[in-house]
Amino acid sequence: MMTRNLIYADNAATTPMSDAAIKAMMQYLADDFGNVSQPYTFSRKPKKALTEAREIIAACIGAKPAEIIFTSGGTESDNWSLINAWRHGRKIVTSAIEHHAILNSCHFIENQGGKIDYLPVDGNGFINTQLIKNALEPQGFLSIMMANNEIGTIEPLSQYSLLAKEQEAIFHTDAVQAVGHIPINVNELGVDMLSASAHKFNGPKGIGFLYVREGTSIKPFINGGSQEFGLRAGTENVAAIIAMAIALRENVDNIESNANLLYELESSLLENLKFHGVKFTRNGNNQLPGSLSLSFEDKDGEALLHRLDLMGIAVSSGSACDSKNTNISHVLQAIALPESLARGTIRITFGKQNTKEDAKAIASAIAKIIL
Ligand code: PLP
Repeated sequence: MMTRNLIYADNAATTPMSDAAIKAMMQYLADDFGNVSQPYTFSRKPKKALTEAREIIAACIGAKPAEIIFTSGGTESDNWSLINAWRHGRKIVTSAIEHHAILNSCHFIENQGGKIDYLPVDGNGFINTQLIKNALEPQGFLSIMMANNEIGTIEPLSQYSLLAKEQEAIFHTDAVQAVGHIPINVNELGVDMLSASAHKFNGPKGIGFLYVREGTSIKPFINGGSQEFGLRAGTENVAAIIAMAIALRENVDNIESNANLLYELESSLLENLKFHGVKFTRNGNNQLPGSLSLSFEDKDGEALLHRLDLMGIAVSSGSACDSKNTNISHVLQAIALPESLARGTIRITFGKQNTKEDAKAIASAIAKIIL
């Protein structure tokens, strides 16, 4: 539920929580707050709800409940996956356009003496499968994101997973931007591990999960109690886990209609920009619903973002710049976007709460600023 008079179009950064998820969360924070490790009656209800949440989440991605491990979110799931691979002596292959949760874990591993291959991508963010073939070692580890958070490219994971299987390599995907937005079945995709984060699909922040295929060797990342099958210690964040399951179920149940709305909003924005005579380039291909990376030649994306902000419109500068410096983002560099376009790039990501009026208002605001 959004009550402020603001057009929020940065849903790749985070999404508003669903009303049903908030309601459930409040119940397990205020009333049914028992520690699920305790044997008494008071903990029975949250314990049962936790079990059901695991079942719901597993069903949403075609997994078994015992293959879902709750974590604090996408960053932890990514870090754990990569560091686990390195601890098992597997050589890691990844792409140049991964999120920093992957890339900085790779840098950490390199600093410890590990070796990583970063595969280049084409202008749309796709990887040449021959490059994967050449780089993957037997019993290696491949980590490729499912959908890119800047340009929205959806990677053909089932093609990549065949290559991983040939080498008996483990295939991990950072699916943080994809879960709850496009249909996912871990068996059809052929992935062994998958990272997800609730706040990207209308659930709470600070909670997520790691899918680990049965039989995949994984060592604990956080040590302590025996929670999460003895793999991830720490008292479970029950309220957030239940809210995450409710939000995911809601999104998965409406995945097609949500996607259709988001595609409509994209088209409406693009048509309205054209109507106003604004020239732009759209980056990426095979898009995540509602995700637009737009470049305005010889303009300043950062300045555009701030002008939009003053007009009550929230979009992202992450597409063009790192939040702390004005360098062109690693993704735009990897797709070899010319500097004159890269510097004038903004990311607009619609969510299911957005309307056609929002899309129109964003387009006319951009036109006002740019023309
Ligand atoms: N991976 C991708 C692709 C993301 O977009 C993000 C967040 O922006 C993350 C990982 C990190 O997820 P979290 O915010 O849950 O730590």
